[in-house]
Amino acid sequence: MNLWEEYMMPGSVKEALKAYTKAGESGALVAGGTDLFIDLKEEDVEERPRLLIDVTAIPELQGIEIGETHVRLGAAATHAEIISQEELRLNATVLVEGCQVIGGPQVRNVATIGGNVAHALPAADSMLGLMALDAEVEIATLLEDGEGISRRWVPLATLFAGPGTNTLVPYRELITSFRFEVPEERSGSAFRRVMRPQGIALPIMGLACKIDLDESGEVIKEARIVPGPIAPVPTRAKKTEQALIGEEVSHEAFQHAEEVAGEECKPRTSKRRATSEYRIMMIKRLLKKALWAAADRAQTGEVHIDQPFIGERGVRPKVTG
Ligand SMILES: Cc1cc2nc3c(=O)[nH]c(=O)nc-3n(C[C@H](O)[C@H](O)[C@H](O)COP(=O)(O)OP(=O)(O)OC[C@H]3O[C@@H](n4cnc5c(N)ncnc54)[C@H](O)[C@@H]3O)c2cc1C
Repeated sequence: MNLWEEYMMPGSVKEALKAYTKAGESGALVAGGTDLFIDLKEEDVEERPRLLIDVTAIPELQGIEIGETHVRLGAAATHAEIISQEELRLNATVLVEGCQVIGGPQVRNVATIGGNVAHALPAADSMLGLMALDAEVEIATLLEDGEGISRRWVPLATLFAGPGTNTLVPYRELITSFRFEVPEERSGSAFRRVMRPQGIALPIMGLACKIDLDESGEVIKEARIVPGPIAPVPTRAKKTEQALIGEEVSHEAFQHAEEVAGEECKPRTSKRRATSEYRIMMIKRLLKKALWAAADRAQTGEVHIDQPFIGERGVRPKVTG
């Protein structure tokens, strides 16, 4: 079975979008292919694209830059590249921890952050970290004249329309980059995930968080909590965030936040993942762990990430005797 007929590697955004627009329904963008090729192999795919447009050789989509105010990640940056950037560990701990649990080394070596986000699943691990970092996404559009390209930055959350569906204009748009602010002092972030114990399998629940402390280093000034999947599109737990703001870093405050999260988050029961009740229990557990890790990082300014790290296993009843 041929998954495609033609494969091209354009050297610019314009070249890619012109080819994509011309091909229309018979074209598809591809980066690492770790989602796309699996989708194309499904037996019930109605029509496979004739032309695949590989975006990974476009210079504008490559690279990771840590500037004075912002961090920029090219959409074609692989998870392996992100993990290996020492400076990102401090500036985007939650993202590095999220990328670190994606697939195995073979997947991480080719799979990109742009593909993870564009695939638009509410459990995508690097996407949850980007949401916690309040990232923006840069979208390039081929103009009506078929020659000009416009670029715009939009909040990441606006990119999602439903599970597996993004808001990019079909055949005219692609993602070029992501950016987020360099965190201020006394800021810490963390990602935690629980998955079935078979190794590379579906995650049951992931949770990304970032907190900023005030000058005393004790009181939470800002909080962003992003569990996933809890809804068809990536969703912040805003009530839980509010419950943390203004509180001192303490067991009581985190315990209260867990209770609010348990009330606020409504993950569905999934045959292949877990029941709603179990997932709510996991959100609370992951929140506690992530909050303490983030708070420690914010207070000490130090980041230690265990490596390699494939995510936490499900909780099993304790066996005694
Ligand atoms: C064994 C295995 C394990 C996995 N484990 C995990 C996991 O633990 N966590 C997780 O989150 N994911 C996991 N995945 C899914 C996948 O690896 C990631 O989502 C990955 O980041 C997808 O990136 P890619 O470059 O391979 O995307 P591709 O498959 O190339 O593309 C995915 C989609 O995005 C579109 N696209 C790609 N780049 C762009 C762009 N720049 N602009 C617009 N559209 C674009 C493509 O057209 C396609 O629709 C796993 C996959 C496999 C095969």
